[in-house]
Amino acid sequence: MRPFTFSFAADAAAAVHAATVENADNSGPVHYLAGGTTLIDLMKLDVMRPARLIDITRIAAPQLRAVELGTQGLYIGALATMRQVADHPGVRRDYPVVAQSLQLAASQQLRNMARVGGNVLQRTRCAYFRDTSWPCNKRTPGSGCAAMEGENRWQAVLGTSEQCIASYPGDWATALIALDATVQILGSTGTRSMPFAQLHRPPGTTPHIETSLSPGDLITGFFIPAGAHTRRSLYLKVRDRESYEFALASAAVAMDLDGATVRQVRIGLGGPVAVPWRAREAEALLTGKPLTEANATAAARAAFAAAKPRKHNAFRIPLGQQTLVRALLQVQTMELQA
Ligand code: SF4
Repeated sequence: MRPFTFSFAADAAAAVHAATVENADNSGPVHYLAGGTTLIDLMKLDVMRPARLIDITRIAAPQLRAVELGTQGLYIGALATMRQVADHPGVRRDYPVVAQSLQLAASQQLRNMARVGGNVLQRTRCAYFRDTSWPCNKRTPGSGCAAMEGENRWQAVLGTSEQCIASYPGDWATALIALDATVQILGSTGTRSMPFAQLHRPPGTTPHIETSLSPGDLITGFFIPAGAHTRRSLYLKVRDRESYEFALASAAVAMDLDGATVRQVRIGLGGPVAVPWRAREAEALLTGKPLTEANATAAARAAFAAAKPRKHNAFRIPLGQQTLVRALLQVQTMELQA
């Protein structure tokens, strides 16, 4: 591991100040440290090389750790742990897709440590990205992409580019994008919020730029608007083994039914996607129609119509489609918690 400077931030404004004003000479990458479950891993692998780490776990502001349900929606502070949100009775009842996406994302030990703010910023598990002996446009811009012709079972089929086919590994982001969440940010010019759907950038020609955040921006919280669809929601994750594993395919589905007819539906896809993925074509096909297996299958085909498979990952297209069909049929019959 390379040398770096380390400090604790007393509050959110001090953290942003340290990351921007105190780093005005741009003396190297600055990162915030919370759970550290991704960052420390990648520092040990020499993939991430921060010049400075700012530990934000001692910030006492209750709002940064709050989980609050209101008539307008659900607010979650960025320093809430994954466990705290996944185990919250109100979240499990009114936003089950949120609780399940966090529950299925990691082991109990990781859920105790990892914070929801850092979770959305986790980096790809592409093996070539994590091994500095290989060319990788995301790690070293312009060096090439070893995954294109290499082992690409874990790479994405949706949202990729000619420069990078890495998949986004998160689960909770799939629920956030399905539920039209917004992300709240504190930066050097003050606070702002943006649609969660705009947080992650597709790889395009600049796969090393993964988000719309500016240097020093600190995610402070998330807001998920209330709606008739949030209680009838679930997260379905398919993987090689039943725990401690990333998704081969996943679907976050939230639905409002009028009898057997879909009044509205929200669909997020995870697994073989370059960024958290919203399946709007599938939503449009289902809205106003009865939720039959045939309609769910047609929607799943539409969701993957733009998929571009590589040598080892074509199987993830039918797997993703079947996962979505299963999720849609399960959400239709799920029993809502009292
Ligand atoms: Fe790097 Fe992306 Fe290629 Fe993986 S897929 S080697 S992250 S450029």
